[in-house]
Amino acid sequence: MAHAAHCSPLLPPHPDVALARDCEQCLGWGTVVTRDGDHELCYVCQPAAGDDEGTARPES
Ligand SMILES: [Zn+2]
Repeated sequence: MAHAAHCSPLLPPHPDVALARDCEQCLGWGTVVTRDGDHELCYVCQPAAGDDEGTARPES
């Protein structure tokens, strides 16, 4: 019986509320709700953590 529920992919990632504090997009939550009702990191104030694809990083 698997009893570990702290790794659910359904839960939104942990936003940095310090960064979201003055954000008008997420109103300080650090996450935004999509049209589908899903929670995702606010793209305005939160760094794209874990998203290393689709984002061009100045790295050589
Ligand atoms: Zn935000």
